[in-house]
Amino acid sequence: MKKVSIVIPLYNEEESLPHLMKAIAGVLDGQELEYRVLFVDDGSIDNSFDVCKKLYEEYPGKVHVYRFSRNHGKSAALNAGIGKADGDVIITMDADLQDDPQAIPDMLKLIDEGWDMVSGWKKKRYDPVTKTIPSKFFNFITSAMSGLKIHDFNCGFKAYRAQAVKSIEIYGERHRYLPALVYWEGYKVTEMVVPHHKRKYGKTKFGMNRFFNGFFDLLTLLFLRKYLANPLHFFGILGIIFCLAGTVVLGYFGVQWIITRQMRIRPLVLLSLGSIIMGIQFFSIGLVGEMIANTRRKKTFTISEEIE
Ligand code: UDP
Ligand code: MG
Repeated sequence: MKKVSIVIPLYNEEESLPHLMKAIAGVLDGQELEYRVLFVDDGSIDNSFDVCKKLYEEYPGKVHVYRFSRNHGKSAALNAGIGKADGDVIITMDADLQDDPQAIPDMLKLIDEGWDMVSGWKKKRYDPVTKTIPSKFFNFITSAMSGLKIHDFNCGFKAYRAQAVKSIEIYGERHRYLPALVYWEGYKVTEMVVPHHKRKYGKTKFGMNRFFNGFFDLLTLLFLRKYLANPLHFFGILGIIFCLAGTVVLGYFGVQWIITRQMRIRPLVLLSLGSIIMGIQFFSIGLVGEMIANTRRKKTFTISEEIE
């Protein structure tokens, strides 16, 4: 029988948890599958952990609970839960009842049809505009930069073939880019419209800084994806451009000096000297980067099929 693991990161969601577990059991108990719910308590400071322990007793064999010693963020919580999950399919969803477990069977169907990842799309959202507008912008940029044409990257509600999600490393703010990360690994990613509800209990855990942190992480991601293994390919080009520009201009003044025997220290001369120095620095940074990349060279590939 197919095994499904449902990973739920949570931070101070004590009121929502019992309703969520009830809703999940309501949808999945009648299905032809085995399921486990993995609650990852991301260092909650309310009673969430005790509520989880109660659920563990109330739903024997269906619930696992993991607790961080302090708050590490949603990405870390997802990472921990996915690491513990042993299902063939792994589903992630938020704990705040904004995601509706009713959608799970349809997600599983898409995985059966051959997709490696099904990403939820909150087409009709029940969040304030301060959130929906930045989110539209963010999704547009991420889609354009990643090459994956979907509408909603950051929805917490997703289903994966286990291997696809275990092939990536989730930390920092990376939970915002999971479809892109999985897609870049070569897996087949699609999206599915999911129902979305207003937050009933508690409040959102992400403030305005979500926007900036998310954007910086996107830049890092793009940079790392392309140049992690070969930093010199990036810094080397900058080094060449700066050195060349400086040398050409200085060369011009040099020739002028040979012909006229006159040389004035003009701003442009200083600028070209600066440019050459910067170029050399870019080279050095690239070389140092290469050294770091070489000392901690780790697995950069995933084997998707094995016939032995
Ligand atoms: N969350 C978490 N750790 C955090 C912040 C949030 O595990 O540091 C969980 C939170 O409990 C919820 C999910 O991540 O289950 C999404 O958070 P939230 O609903 O606050 O985000 P929003 O829906 O406002 O984007
Ligand atoms: Mg929410």
